[in-house]
Amino acid sequence: MRLRIQHAVCPHRGLYLTDTPRPNCRDCDGNGGFNRDYGDYETGEYAGTEWEPCTCWNENRRWLLMPLPRLPRRHRGPGRDPWGAGGYSDEPPF
Ligand SMILES: [Zn+2]
Repeated sequence: MRLRIQHAVCPHRGLYLTDTPRPNCRDCDGNGGFNRDYGDYETGEYAGTEWEPCTCWNENRRWLLMPLPRLPRRHRGPGRDPWGAGGYSDEPPF
């Protein structure tokens, strides 16, 4: 099992330690899985490619290393709106 650090947002936003495919795996050649083309049942034409993960690693196995905070929304206070610059104000100048 080889580990690698990955940035992810699911299930929590943060840095994750993840499992990776074995580089010299006989089955997947280190790719971590196989692309399998499949056809449409009725027409037999190419319908897409399915990704099948190899058994030499577990793509769902990961540990949260460091949670990252959500980016806070900037609050614009009244009178500090840059688009409102130029003298205009909603509030009467008492
Ligand atoms: Zn493999």
